[in-house]
Amino acid sequence: MKVFPLIFERKKETPTEYIKKPDIAIKNPEEFFPSHFLRTQLNLPSLSEPTVVRHFTNLAMRNFSVDTHFYPLGSCTMKYNPKLNEELAFQDEFIFLHPYQKEEDFQGILEIIYDLEKLLCEITGMERFSFGVSAGAHAELVGMLIVNAYFKKRGEKRKKVIIPDSSHGTNPASASMCGFEVEVVKSRDDGLINIEELKKIVDQNTAAIMLTNPNTLGLFEEEILKIKEIIKKNGALIYYDGANFNALLGITKPSLMGCDIIHLNLHKTFSAPHGSGGPGLGAVGVRKDLVSFLPVPLVDKKNDHYYLNYNLENSIGRVRSFYTNIVPLIKAYSYILRLGKEGLKRIAQISVLNANYIREKLKDIFLVSSPKRCMHEVVFSCKEKKEKGVTAQDIAKRLIDYGIHPPTMYFPLIVKEALMIEPTETESKDTLDYFIEVMKKINQEIKESPSILKDAPLLSFTKRVNETQAARNPILRWEKCGV
Ligand SMILES: *Cc1c(COP(=O)(O)O)cnc(C)c1O
Repeated sequence: MKVFPLIFERKKETPTEYIKKPDIAIKNPEEFFPSHFLRTQLNLPSLSEPTVVRHFTNLAMRNFSVDTHFYPLGSCTMKYNPKLNEELAFQDEFIFLHPYQKEEDFQGILEIIYDLEKLLCEITGMERFSFGVSAGAHAELVGMLIVNAYFKKRGEKRKKVIIPDSSHGTNPASASMCGFEVEVVKSRDDGLINIEELKKIVDQNTAAIMLTNPNTLGLFEEEILKIKEIIKKNGALIYYDGANFNALLGITKPSLMGCDIIHLNLHKTFSAPHGSGGPGLGAVGVRKDLVSFLPVPLVDKKNDHYYLNYNLENSIGRVRSFYTNIVPLIKAYSYILRLGKEGLKRIAQISVLNANYIREKLKDIFLVSSPKRCMHEVVFSCKEKKEKGVTAQDIAKRLIDYGIHPPTMYFPLIVKEALMIEPTETESKDTLDYFIEVMKKINQEIKESPSILKDAPLLSFTKRVNETQAARNPILRWEKCGV
């Protein structure tokens, strides 16, 4: 007997004949669909309403989510997202819009896009934004396509993109997907880019540098203006990965750092949830003379009429079927308007304060990865704990037993046994104090009863899974689960 069977494993409760047959049946489906697409049987569970409700309510209760637990997953900004945004985004006026409607019929949504673009331009100092991009990694690819088109237009062949070893893993992937050769620039011991190393590798073959600032060690690149000088002297471009922009909101702008192309993840910084919480939106912004390279369309306005403008001279083209993901866009708009200038700045201040509070309280028992004060996230190294037989993963799994989501582990790659903690500005001091207390308790356990950590989590539904087996032999389809 399974305590919690899949819905397909449950005994049929309702005779199948009660299930309503569709009114319109296609008589000869073979005429319309290739035969290998046609089902010979449809094995839907036929269950009573209470069984279905219980099934899904119980599943939902097993969730580990921002709404139920502290979720300090670094480089992911798992902040609490105000429910008001949810309500606003799911109004009938938005959800029943259809992209094939006439432009006159969706002037309202175009106005929102237009206004949001202006707000993001003000926040970042960029000239224009495209919202036709579904995610952060997608935005990086768009950025690299723009870099490519820019040099092509100038009649230059530049093959190299420079990426710091502290960068997000999607950066080198996006650059090489676009056909660039990636050259890695090393970080110094304190976690910032090594300027001397950078000078050695930037040349006339360099198309761009991809920078994350604050970098994935949670540090602000203090010498960003020197970096800018080196890059610009060689005629290359600066791509700025602003996926996690919390720490800088209202404090500084990528335009002041000389950035040419940037992306913001509306689904991290601007309060749309991500992961399985909804669609993403990686807004791509550019400086003035790169506007004509943006993907089409852009939303423009003429005589109080908003329209989708496909007329961009050097555009890299369309990068998505329909323009934009409306839901995260409305959430971002409502979020920014509600907070205003002062509110945005406070986000930056509190997100930095929260991360540094944790850093200060734990730095004597967990090794900090840099002597420098951090921005919105702090990275600890558990290499000393590993010498005692306990890994970063063991610690992360043990946190689940205390009702805390594991932080990001083993990233960035340059920190041994890394735990990357991003508390976000939405957590109270009480929650942070609880986390700190738990980390101290775990440190005590490492000394006194390390075997507990090896078996953790002990209290969750799912115990420690065999990750090697799961990676080598993943079972992704329910049919294969023997159902
Ligand atoms: C999350 C993240 C990305 C990728 O964004 P996705 O929307 O997950 O594709 C890129 N860079 C950084 C720094 C990130 O934190």
